[in-house]
Amino acid sequence: MTKRLYITNAIPYVNAAPHVGHALEYVQTDCLVRFYKLLGYDVFYAAGADENSLKNVQAAEAENVPIQKLVDKYAKEFENLKDTLNISWDVFNRTSKRHHIAGAQKLWALCKKEDIYKKKYRGLYCVGCEVFYTAHELKDGVCPDGHTNIEEVEEENYFFALSKYQKYLETLIDTDKLQITPQTRKNEVLSFISQGLEDFSISRSVERARGWGVPIPSDNSQVMYVWFDALTTYLTALGFGRRPGGPLARRVADEKLYKKYWIDNPNRLHIIGKGIIRFHAVYWPAMLKSAGIPLPKTEFIHGYITVEGQKISKTLGNVIDPFDLVKKFGQEAVRYYLLREIPAWGDGDFSIQRFKELYNGELANGLGNLVARVARLCADTKLNLPPKKNFQFKANVANELKNFRFDRALISLWGEISQLDKKINEQKPWELQGLTLKKTITPIAQEIREIAFNLSPFLPKTSQKILDQFTGKVSAQNPLFPRI
Ligand SMILES: [Zn+2]
Repeated sequence: MTKRLYITNAIPYVNAAPHVGHALEYVQTDCLVRFYKLLGYDVFYAAGADENSLKNVQAAEAENVPIQKLVDKYAKEFENLKDTLNISWDVFNRTSKRHHIAGAQKLWALCKKEDIYKKKYRGLYCVGCEVFYTAHELKDGVCPDGHTNIEEVEEENYFFALSKYQKYLETLIDTDKLQITPQTRKNEVLSFISQGLEDFSISRSVERARGWGVPIPSDNSQVMYVWFDALTTYLTALGFGRRPGGPLARRVADEKLYKKYWIDNPNRLHIIGKGIIRFHAVYWPAMLKSAGIPLPKTEFIHGYITVEGQKISKTLGNVIDPFDLVKKFGQEAVRYYLLREIPAWGDGDFSIQRFKELYNGELANGLGNLVARVARLCADTKLNLPPKKNFQFKANVANELKNFRFDRALISLWGEISQLDKKINEQKPWELQGLTLKKTITPIAQEIREIAFNLSPFLPKTSQKILDQFTGKVSAQNPLFPRI
């Protein structure tokens, strides 16, 4: 039976245009999707937009446009990253759509009756984070993430009985039944849980939400807390909550995909940023457990990107626009930088100078130069390589990718590129002729094809170009990466 994999991205608030940090998560995920497809997996990849947040409401008020119009505008920009970065998601799930609302309400209804209760509550709410904080978590009215727009809120909300799940979650994560990668993040979650879990508010008043959000079934005074509905995206992207004969019956019949990729497939993988672990490794598994729905199997947590050593912020004006970057340097070079330079298991930095260094050093000179040199020699001897071969991933590349170490996989491939370069310099095939030249250059050309195949999850277009070039009669062509 074909192995399956369901892989998801976090859904960003669509209150502003995407930045390079969003691009990182898409490119990492796309790389895994392509890798597993080449291993023969049946993969479904879901991305999307978080549209029901208060943050979006406030951004719309600031821009003086209707909320739906604001989220439509920015969601479209995020969707455009698909083509710009060559990302292969199957669905871009938007949470203000009716099917998602129906799915979030279904999850709410499935949670154990005793796990959801109403109580009067007073707290300090950070709209920037969409989180309630205690007074001691705020320093001089500033949240741990640096936001200052803290609201004091007093209202009656629905709560989720998270405290009941403390022991359950501890065991779940400690035993890797839910695997959190890397280990440092797993430790972080365990330490958070060990401090004691409190029940959390899962609704807010309709007035505070300006009527925006997913209505609570059977209580029209409240809408869902944005995280309760947002996490459900991982299910609604697969059609959870859709019924044959329902209002959307003409578009999507039922929960077929949900059954195929969530219920009947153990490989459920979330890719998220380090800032939202609490929601994914604590709230989400408890909600699913309460609702009697299987849990994700793995969560990979990537770090954040700074720009020239500084936190990305609109105020600092250092937001890097991925569209500009691709326009300037090309899609594959941007993919390369993100996968190669940002440490997969930690934080990384974006710098234009470093970008140019890597581009010239590793893409134009390293890979591009090797391919051009060998192709020229092959063309001179009219070398023919067999058209098709069953390529395999090199063991170290496969192992690194299974561990989400994109950077290390690429570094090892570039090690092989310099080995080949060295070999050529020693063997000096340009001084050889006839059969000796052919015999020397053939294994090198074949090794280039192996490397090209191994590159395909990272740089799909470059990989294909090299494979095309080194098939049948090998031809010399324009440089893959012209120097900048
Ligand atoms: Zn905040």
